[in-house]
Amino acid sequence: MTEYFEVHERDGAARVGELRLSSPRTTPALVDDVLEDAGSLWSADRDLPDGDESRLTVLPHRAFPGGTPEEVQASFAVDAPDVDYPSVAVVSSEDVEPQGTDAYALSDVQSVMGHGAALVEAVVDVREAIPADTALLFSGVATPRNVALLAYAGVDLFDATAAVVKGTEGRYLTTDEAYFLEDLEELPCSCPACQGPREEFTREDCADHNRHALESELAIVRRRIRDGRLRDYLEGQARHDQWLTAAMRELDDQWGYLEERTPILRDARIDAATGDTLRRVEIQRFADRVTTRYRNRFDNPLVLVPCSAAKPYSESQSHRQFHDAIQWRGHLVSMTSPIGVVPQELETTYPAQHYDTVVTGRWTEDEKEFVSEVLQRYLERNEYPKIVAHVPDEGYRDIVERVEERLDLDITYTVADHPTDDESLANLSEALSGELKYSKREREHNTVRALADYLLGDGAGDDLFADIQTTSRYPKIQVRDDEDTQLATMVPQYGTLSFTLAGARRWLESAAPTKRVEIDGFVPHGSVLAPGVVDADDDIRVGDEVIVEGPQAFAVGRAEMFGREMAESTRGIACEIRHVEEK
Ligand SMILES: [Zn+2]
Repeated sequence: MTEYFEVHERDGAARVGELRLSSPRTTPALVDDVLEDAGSLWSADRDLPDGDESRLTVLPHRAFPGGTPEEVQASFAVDAPDVDYPSVAVVSSEDVEPQGTDAYALSDVQSVMGHGAALVEAVVDVREAIPADTALLFSGVATPRNVALLAYAGVDLFDATAAVVKGTEGRYLTTDEAYFLEDLEELPCSCPACQGPREEFTREDCADHNRHALESELAIVRRRIRDGRLRDYLEGQARHDQWLTAAMRELDDQWGYLEERTPILRDARIDAATGDTLRRVEIQRFADRVTTRYRNRFDNPLVLVPCSAAKPYSESQSHRQFHDAIQWRGHLVSMTSPIGVVPQELETTYPAQHYDTVVTGRWTEDEKEFVSEVLQRYLERNEYPKIVAHVPDEGYRDIVERVEERLDLDITYTVADHPTDDESLANLSEALSGELKYSKREREHNTVRALADYLLGDGAGDDLFADIQTTSRYPKIQVRDDEDTQLATMVPQYGTLSFTLAGARRWLESAAPTKRVEIDGFVPHGSVLAPGVVDADDDIRVGDEVIVEGPQAFAVGRAEMFGREMAESTRGIACEIRHVEEK
């Protein structure tokens, strides 16, 4: 039961939360000034402290050094007493039991710092064992350089102890380095502590500066989480210390932990500037869904084209020229790093129109292999009467030829020199001569079905939308049944569908996997708060369409938490309701 902590914004495993003390604090943040430690039970029997709402009280504890055998820890374990003030339980990452407190502090944190795999294992073990709406405290370790990674992994609360101690030892900390004070001819900072003349700068000032630098980095981290862009920042920031980059990569291997916490859509750009971007959940999930859920429904030849910098691709100059040559006679699939392949129906779907990549024309081997693998899986699942590759030499052709050889295909190449030169466009048009154009109706129906496949699962498009009509102009397609009742609308901003109540009912009756939130006996308007949720499906992700149902109401809306978080949490908005009907 967490009364004193609430998560407001999520960005993967990172969260902006509120520590609800008498003067509330936005997290991730330093909490030294409000932390009161009741002390270790090793040195004395402790009385239960008189906590109050102005402080975060660390309950009496026995901390164990990292590596202490589990049975030893268990025999000395302390169960947190039930208190009615903001409290922290001290736990070891090797043996975590939920204690009903608002926050948890990791006792063996010192032993995992500096080691990517150990840190990630510790954070994931604790986070998976404690309720989602409780805060995680890492005491004595935060520096301006490591705190972005720690927050990204899922740590909410910190103290300035390490930064201050290092300052008094003459170490001047920045987000990228830990300098020896005597090596600095000038101070690379303009915080209040660094205002005076260099020769008068003392170790005490250095400790002050370190604290400022840590506070300021935490403010950047909070801003990045709110923007859904902490990862983009971290891919640069983690480069300043090798173990931090190692930790980021180790965390990428914790697919289940990160995927559950990563929204399926959001209004945030993805910067594809490093090789690590390929391993982001958003990128891997798109590639996975395109190759396991999406199905091509056109009978026309496949036309592979390069992506464009402008998004959605169809609005770019180059793609308009491709379109003039193709004239709806081919099914357009764009090849791109870091997304893989993007069928035309999914060109607006997050993150296909939400990334920016570094354009040099040079591909790394990792990029080539990633796109080759996605294209191969795509072609293993989807058969075409003919494949036309309208791709330039740089990287693209190499990738197509790899897949052509692996799958023993016969692909027609149409680019002479550059994809948009006259000769190449004429070749493209010629390669499609004699092919029939598909209709606007077919195009729109297949787009709606593709979005349903992508969102809900393999076959969902046919299960839900076999017989439909579409109205309104692409990309704001409205989906109606044969009696003209509206079922859903396409949301062009994220390339997703939002359902009406009639659509939600059809979804429930169909064979497509549903995402259900069971609520108590009330009629929700606006938001459903977590305490009102009785149960929620495990596969719900932030941004998913959800059917919300209870004894008194049937509703449809969008998830603001992942499924397990909705079921576990005692505070916060679980989902936003779009339409509701009283039972
Ligand atoms: Zn400073």
